[in-house]
Amino acid sequence: MPEMPEVETIRKTLAPHIEGRRITKVDLRLDRLVKVPADAANFVSRLEGRRVESLSRRGKYLCFQLDGAGDIFIVHLRMTGQLYFSADGSTDRKYTRLALSLDNGSALLFADLRTLGALYLVTPAEIPLIKGLHTLGPEPLTEAFTEEYLKNYLSARQTKIKSLLLDQSAIAGLGNIYADEALFLAGIHPERKAKTLSDKEIHRLYKAVNKVIGDGIADGGTTFSDYRDAHGESGHHQENLNAYQRTGKPCKGCGTAIQRLVIGGRSAHFCPRCQK
Ligand SMILES: [Zn+2]
Repeated sequence: MPEMPEVETIRKTLAPHIEGRRITKVDLRLDRLVKVPADAANFVSRLEGRRVESLSRRGKYLCFQLDGAGDIFIVHLRMTGQLYFSADGSTDRKYTRLALSLDNGSALLFADLRTLGALYLVTPAEIPLIKGLHTLGPEPLTEAFTEEYLKNYLSARQTKIKSLLLDQSAIAGLGNIYADEALFLAGIHPERKAKTLSDKEIHRLYKAVNKVIGDGIADGGTTFSDYRDAHGESGHHQENLNAYQRTGKPCKGCGTAIQRLVIGGRSAHFCPRCQK
């Protein structure tokens, strides 16, 4: 599943191709991927003819601001969704569920093998209809995500720190890979209860969360299976991971074998020696 650095990489690689382009034709091949509006025909008719003014991102949602009435076209990739820029305008890529032809002969394709992705077309007032977007917490590497915020959030909570880091209403955009990596860097055991973290540990965690997200974006994301940027290129952050999916391999810090635990239904990878 793509995480925030992967989605940001898609945004960065796609934006120069799509901003300022007009959508000349909308070919929706699987109606049920459209979650809002309820009527897929309405989605198609409102999207067709619009110009993309900007492409932004909030958490793992990609937001295409459109001209005219101010509608926003929003994509969530979920498990296997991919956005692919087709320079020659061909729309026959495998698993394409939505093809947007653009006014310079190119096209934007949404492909999705498992069809769990979600497409929305909303007015700004309708954003609360997208619950996962509306309730997102502050994001790493933004002004809203301060050490003070993190400290306040953790101080009242009994939840295990790993589960808390995955809660999108606490911190937006941190998924399993980057949560494991942040806890490794901070030297914090994933099962620690949030409120037991000392100020020093919270400081290390704050720095680590920003660092793993920043490094992930700098590396063009992490590719294990399906993730590709808008040009179909893999990321290479998987080469720089310390903990995630390294079970049994030696810790890069101390040589102890990385262990795996299941916390709140999700796997957690950690060094039993370096993480207290
Ligand atoms: Zn270690």
